[in-house]
Amino acid sequence: MAALGLPVNLDNQVVRTPAEIKAYIDRYTAQRDQLPYGIDGIVEKVNDLTLQTQLGATVKVPRWEIAYKFPPEEAPTVVRAIEWTVGRTGTVTPTAVMDSVQLAGTTVSRASLHNPDYLQAKDIRLGDTVLLHKAGDIIPEIERVVVDQRPADSQPYQIPTHCPVCEHELVNLADEVALRCLNPMCPAQIKEGLAHFVSRNAMNIDGLGPKILEQLWDKQLVHDVAGLYQLTLAELLTLDKVGEKSATKLLTAIDQSRQNSAERLLFGLGIRHVGGKAAQLLMAEFGDLPTLMAADEEQIAAVDSIGPTIAASLKTYFANPQVQTLITELQTAGVNFTYLAPTTASDNSEWTGKTVVLTGTLTTMSRSDAKQWLEAQGAKVTGSVSKKTDLLIAGEKAGSKLAKAQQLSVLVWNETQFQAAMEEATK
Ligand SMILES: [Zn+2]
Repeated sequence: MAALGLPVNLDNQVVRTPAEIKAYIDRYTAQRDQLPYGIDGIVEKVNDLTLQTQLGATVKVPRWEIAYKFPPEEAPTVVRAIEWTVGRTGTVTPTAVMDSVQLAGTTVSRASLHNPDYLQAKDIRLGDTVLLHKAGDIIPEIERVVVDQRPADSQPYQIPTHCPVCEHELVNLADEVALRCLNPMCPAQIKEGLAHFVSRNAMNIDGLGPKILEQLWDKQLVHDVAGLYQLTLAELLTLDKVGEKSATKLLTAIDQSRQNSAERLLFGLGIRHVGGKAAQLLMAEFGDLPTLMAADEEQIAAVDSIGPTIAASLKTYFANPQVQTLITELQTAGVNFTYLAPTTASDNSEWTGKTVVLTGTLTTMSRSDAKQWLEAQGAKVTGSVSKKTDLLIAGEKAGSKLAKAQQLSVLVWNETQFQAAMEEATK
């Protein structure tokens, strides 16, 4: 390439022994900061085409080259504050706020401390000098405290006892490390709950981003998810940066969500332990929300892959009088409570028990819609191809999964074949 006049890195070198590789790495590790470009490692390649062919490749990588990655960069900084934020389920999470520091190409001033146990195990205190690194070269993390630089008057950090937003007392539930605010009226939780309710896999209401939700809350136009269905054009027009056109669009999106199949609503309510998949299974089993609410714990726990934790969580949730009021409000607002997804997920569906993998880009539907449909048919959708895979549905730009499926002789369909099967199944 150099002979052809292409720019190549002149620092390449032919080495013949592991000791020579090591010496090369050591030299560049020492020079790394002086290089006029950033590097995160060094690649070693076999420079013989015959040997390259003999060595071949695994599914993912050639066997004749390997990357040596430098250990993560570290940078010292000082912890100035610890902020506590309240999530949708009331989990209160600490974040360290530190003096800004350059680390592996970005300016870092915040790092999650995950939970009180983590914070206490590392004994992180205000004023501490800490060493930061990036986990997986992306997420800043406090590696450790530099204890010998700790100020003399340093005190162990006091974990808060009350919610930073609503001041309700915080609790540690028996089975978990997280600290929680259990106040169902906690503003932080309601705001997060609204964002979850409108999100794509829940009610999928387009245009209700965090800035709009924040304003709706601050202006007291919405105090719970049912409130979204009472919004008027005049109210939306009072919001910052919302014109008539986008307000109308929003109202249409909200209105359309009334027709969603009920598993979206169930997931959107944000009940602890009830994820998208559980919501789907539950609604497929019980048919509508009132029937699920009336079911007893044993009946719910008996549903395939549900179990006692989800059953108990649902019963606790629906027993709450505030929740019952909310459900009534949603019903009055005309939100659909019935499961609408294809009800052909009977045991004799041709999809029942099949393991399916989706890969590449689908052009006529989103991957999550495809997944939802397959699961409704009784198929199991997994993330990687193995001998147990029955079918790979490959969209555009399918990569390594397609190669693997072909290698394992797994049946492969393109999107058109999949669509034809969908039409067939819903006839
Ligand atoms: Zn709170």
